[in-house]
Amino acid sequence: MKIDVNTKVYCLLGYPVKHSLSPVMHNAAFKKLGINATYVVLEVPPRFIDKAINVIKTFGISGANVTIPHKEGCIKHLDKLTKEAKLIGAVNTIVNKNNKLIGYNTDGIGFLKALKEDLGITAKGKKVFLIGAGGAAKAVATTLAAGGAESICVVDKVRKKANKLSKELKKNFSKCKVKVVSGNWKRYIENSNLLINATPIGMKKKDALLVKPEYLHKGLKVYDLVYNVPKTKLVEAATKCGLKASCGLSMLLYQGVEAFKLWTGKRAPVSIMRKTLLRGLK
Ligand code: NAP
Repeated sequence: MKIDVNTKVYCLLGYPVKHSLSPVMHNAAFKKLGINATYVVLEVPPRFIDKAINVIKTFGISGANVTIPHKEGCIKHLDKLTKEAKLIGAVNTIVNKNNKLIGYNTDGIGFLKALKEDLGITAKGKKVFLIGAGGAAKAVATTLAAGGAESICVVDKVRKKANKLSKELKKNFSKCKVKVVSGNWKRYIENSNLLINATPIGMKKKDALLVKPEYLHKGLKVYDLVYNVPKTKLVEAATKCGLKASCGLSMLLYQGVEAFKLWTGKRAPVSIMRKTLLRGLK
């Protein structure tokens, strides 16, 4: 890659962030399209997010991705938010437009594209059982509700988090039925047609199977946001039961594809980005 005075710089703000696959994915895409740009990682401890955002403006960095723990904290330092980012309450992509920083959230649209590609479905009319009510769950649930999901049952280890997400969804989407579930999941999963794991359970080999296999009925499709392994135990169990199921690599890919489009105005080279991610996981 040739770096010169015209090279545009993009960055990832997060902490810790050294494991991220975004640099290889975006640098491969820039190279493929012959764009004079580079994507670097900036590890930003939580207390320095304001300074990091200032750096984007001061040095004319063209754009950024934002990840844990800054997706919410960066908001107050930006100039403008898109409607999606406002609704989700989190930003994962920043575009520097004439030194004004605009915050986007491409996690939700990335998730919908992944659902369509991997499971062949849209949000419309879905009855969702959502495990986890953290940052990723918020993007996924908001996008599903906005896309016409019929109902969302949310469960989290910390009930308070599930309650908070449920309250926000009810406030913004009156047509989507939202319920916080505790205790036995069985009858709620029985009444669902899309099961989503938005917890980190499944990232480690020793992690237990999140859902009892007998709950995995024929009418269910499964999307597991975990992407650091080719197949989580949940996806393996669902596939064994004959269900369509997918891990989170496709969501990671498509949130990146959308960010690339916002930064460059060009159609992203999806196939090279996917290949790079798959190689990065090995
Ligand atoms: P997070 O903010 O920590 O949220 C996870 C939530 O799940 C927490 O509230 C956690 O509670 C809860 N939880 C943990 N174990 C649980 C269990 N057994 N049952 C019910 N709830 C449980 O994390 P996140 O940022 O949302 O990320 C979640 C997962 O999604 C991670 O694996 C991440 O890598 C993945 N992700 C994927 C993509 C993608 O593009 N594919 C994008 C974003 C995130 P505690 O905090 O008490 O543990």
